[in-house]
Amino acid sequence: MERTPTRHPDGTTPDAEAAREAATPREPKRHKPKPVFLEQQVRIVGHRWSPRVHELKQLLGRSRVRHLWLDVDADPEAQRLAAQAAPGSTTFPLVLLPDGRVLVDPDVEHLARALGLSTQPSGPIYDLVVIGGGPAGLTAAINAASEGLHTLVVDQNVPGGQITYSAMIENFPGFPRSLDGADLSQRMVQQAERFGVEIVRMRRATGLRAEGLRRLVTLDDGTELSARTIVLAPGVSFRFLESPGCRALVGAGVYYGAATVEASSCRGDDVYVLGGGNSGGQAALFLATIARTVHLVTSDDDIGQSMSRYLVDRIGTTSNIVVVPHSTVADAGGDGHVEWVELLDVRSGQVERVPACALFVFIGAAPRSEWLDGIVALDEKGFIRTGVDEGCCLPADWPLERPPYLLETSLPGVFAAGDVRHGSVKRMTSAAGEGAMAVHLVHQYLRETPADCAARLRRPPRRERAPGRRTAPGRPPGRAGFDPQRFERRPPG
Ligand SMILES: Cc1cc2nc3c(=O)[nH]c(=O)nc-3n(C[C@H](O)[C@H](O)[C@H](O)COP(=O)(O)OP(=O)(O)OC[C@H]3O[C@@H](n4cnc5c(N)ncnc54)[C@H](O)[C@@H]3O)c2cc1C
Repeated sequence: MERTPTRHPDGTTPDAEAAREAATPREPKRHKPKPVFLEQQVRIVGHRWSPRVHELKQLLGRSRVRHLWLDVDADPEAQRLAAQAAPGSTTFPLVLLPDGRVLVDPDVEHLARALGLSTQPSGPIYDLVVIGGGPAGLTAAINAASEGLHTLVVDQNVPGGQITYSAMIENFPGFPRSLDGADLSQRMVQQAERFGVEIVRMRRATGLRAEGLRRLVTLDDGTELSARTIVLAPGVSFRFLESPGCRALVGAGVYYGAATVEASSCRGDDVYVLGGGNSGGQAALFLATIARTVHLVTSDDDIGQSMSRYLVDRIGTTSNIVVVPHSTVADAGGDGHVEWVELLDVRSGQVERVPACALFVFIGAAPRSEWLDGIVALDEKGFIRTGVDEGCCLPADWPLERPPYLLETSLPGVFAAGDVRHGSVKRMTSAAGEGAMAVHLVHQYLRETPADCAARLRRPPRRERAPGRRTAPGRPPGRAGFDPQRFERRPPG
């Protein structure tokens, strides 16, 4: 009699399961991420305008941890929960974890640790250390680990980078409907961890130096990591508004890139978005689904000057978005939170004070490379230079006979990818592409290193600087702990 194969409740057979397992890449043993509460809900009980509540919501939202914020000033359920969780306490916010723990006014690192997110590297030595867990860094890590490199990603916040601030990524190939950036980045994180990438959150890289063939990275808590190669992918940070009111109210109505996290607290309100680029346009469209009116303030005469056509068209057909052209925000103010903004007409110089509940700012970005000044060559704006420059010059102090690879910085074995790179496209897919390409070059570097580079990298003494070598204006040449022989300038190829 023919045997009926045993079936699991979901209809699969053990054979099918075994075949699927065989086809699935094996879990690398090196690193096992700790569990994170993704299914159950974390509750934050606190004041609406508390910057700490804003930080905690950002952490949870950008990590895709399900959470609910309850306003202790307006919601009786919030007051009941607070009285139950921390009787008599007047300190807020409270964070109620699904396992019953209550955190009183935790900072983001405390909450991250309580959620089981790793904030410390497990060991000091890696094949590749990636600085920055945005699309460039995560793609580099996925490619490196899938090809067997022992890889660590360090992020000063939660991984995901700028895309976690966007709920509407529409230009990612293969996804004709818009993608939620936080969701996409969480998938990248899961994919990286599945390949054995170790991800350390809430740790900032503060130093980089070379000792022979080792590349050493210092973190903000003094930890030193050693790697054979480094990929620098720290991206860019939001540019801040300089007015005193805007500075004082960050997190209390003035938000940088936080449209997705704060949208729910703007229900029925009038909000302002400053910035006529794509990220400002995306934020305006997203907020328009919740706020009463969204005022989109741009210094351009019309939004078509700096925004993609698809966004311009959609804004044109969204009745509750009002475009405020040739204007900027001069200041914001209110009693503990934003109650008004001052609009400056850049043509006439006239200033008008208007009521507002929140101001979302998208006015460009600056490279996060200050800690690399004097270590790798930067351009005059601080973006990291890679490869040979536009004039076919080698970087100052370049020690090897071969020219630097396309994404290699002026320090051999250290690569840069994504928005922080001089000449990069400032798009997610380009950043991811550069991350993948950087790993290809990492392999090339590792292949050549033992036989070709090692002797040269150690060979003293320094020769005179060859004519034509350059460094960015105002930036000292040379790198700590790295004393290679200089080579004659030669064009690539
Ligand atoms: C609101 C918004 C919407 C956007 N929408 C789109 C879109 O629809 N389509 C598109 O193509 N692009 C979009 N972009 C641009 C896109 O997000 C970026 O081009 C892309 O994220 C760049 O990736 P990256 O990895 O180079 O850098 P980032 O995304 O900036 O990531 C860098 C990471 O490095 C970390 N980091 C920085 N310094 C350090 C340090 N010293 N130590 C440790 N970690 C550090 C940061 O915390 C960050 O997580 C948008 C950007 C924004 C802000």
